Amino acid sequence: MSSNELNSSRLFSRALRIAPGGVHSPVRAFKGVGGEPIFFKSANGAYLRSVEGIEYIDFCQSFGPNILGHCDPDVKARVHEQIDIAWSFGASEPYSVELGQWVKARVHCVERLRFVSSGTEAVMSAMRVARAATGRSLILKFDGCYHGHADSLLVKSGSGLAGEASSDSAGVTTEVAGQTLVANLDDEESVNRAFAKHGAQIAAVIVEPLPANFGLLPQRREFLVHLMNQARLSGSLMIFDEVISGFRVGRGGMAERLCLVPDLVTYGKILGGGFPVGCYGGRKELMELVAPLGPVYQAGTLSANPVGMVAGLETLKKAETENAWWVLEERTKEFCRQINQTLQKLKAPLYMDHFASLFWLRSGAGEPIRQPQRIPAGQKKEFAAVFHAALKHKVYLPPSGYEVGFLSLAHTPEILMSAVDRLSAALEEVYGPS
Ligand SMILES: *Cc1c(COP(=O)(O)O)cnc(C)c1O
Repeated sequence: MSSNELNSSRLFSRALRIAPGGVHSPVRAFKGVGGEPIFFKSANGAYLRSVEGIEYIDFCQSFGPNILGHCDPDVKARVHEQIDIAWSFGASEPYSVELGQWVKARVHCVERLRFVSSGTEAVMSAMRVARAATGRSLILKFDGCYHGHADSLLVKSGSGLAGEASSDSAGVTTEVAGQTLVANLDDEESVNRAFAKHGAQIAAVIVEPLPANFGLLPQRREFLVHLMNQARLSGSLMIFDEVISGFRVGRGGMAERLCLVPDLVTYGKILGGGFPVGCYGGRKELMELVAPLGPVYQAGTLSANPVGMVAGLETLKKAETENAWWVLEERTKEFCRQINQTLQKLKAPLYMDHFASLFWLRSGAGEPIRQPQRIPAGQKKEFAAVFHAALKHKVYLPPSGYEVGFLSLAHTPEILMSAVDRLSAALEEVYGPS
């Protein structure tokens, strides 16, 4: 392809003839904001560069994995070094030992772990372990939490009162959907109802301890404690899905921030430093049910891929050395404060929420939203208008009003100042006096 052909619109029409909707993961198609997707050719630090050569300040950061920013020089050097010697053995190697040790030494709920290649795979495997350990079949999940695309989790609340679910995707059978119960976040009663009716059959409760895949819906600690107590009383296991919050809200994720110890935990995103890595782990006797020690089968041709292992380890080591979690939280707080100042000045019907270095621009006033049904109806439309105005001012937000944004260490105070200026100009265009 000659370089003058590199144009997002032309690439999109070609992509449409290759992949469904022209994409390999649905949000990328811009259906949530309208218009055609931008095609990016390269990225560095806080910036993305489109095939047209336009540079954007990027707050999507691959939906979270790049906590150091794009193409961090130290991670890049380590990856180059690894690629020079080998990128897959399908055999034992030292790299997963090192990354595994790093994680185990820092996260108190992980006594044993297994690396896989995505968050979806991690969640699927953790559920299989929970079912094997308890000999029960049901999984209780929450409306507004996302756990990847395993069949049994692509469900929504059914009409029943005690959490019965129905399929939320074609191709998921009613039999499979029937193995899942759905309760409401921030609602102890809905949890009690599900346990009262089905407690003896619930193998595990799975929750995002910081729900961040349908807006940002921080939960009360007491709610999570209630959940864990109910699970314990019924002999069900507790799975924290920390694929997005793990190594993002702090070194030990939400489990450490809240001092809670789930039976099983899942990771992904940051753990691979931008390469496809997932992981599930937890109590020793549960994880020892997994093959080859135990009867739970789980395998992967590219599991613990050396490139992902070294990229993840270098990313985490550097994040720790640079005190990333504290630094990012402070920067995010200030960034959101300034954006909220602009929003207030313009009397815009929006608010910027944040938790650690995740943020969410959403409609409504400042009180925290903890349940998906409380997200104002105007969210999609308001966000779409701001998203496109931001693009004009060269800021790339995640292309959906229900996805959160991320800061990385590459978002220096100077870059953030420029981002505030650009976003303020964009907001003025949408909400200012015309
Ligand atoms: C991203 C995510 C997943 C799915 O991970 P993939 O790597 O996309 O399969 C699962 N759970 C949570 C909480 C996530 O944020």
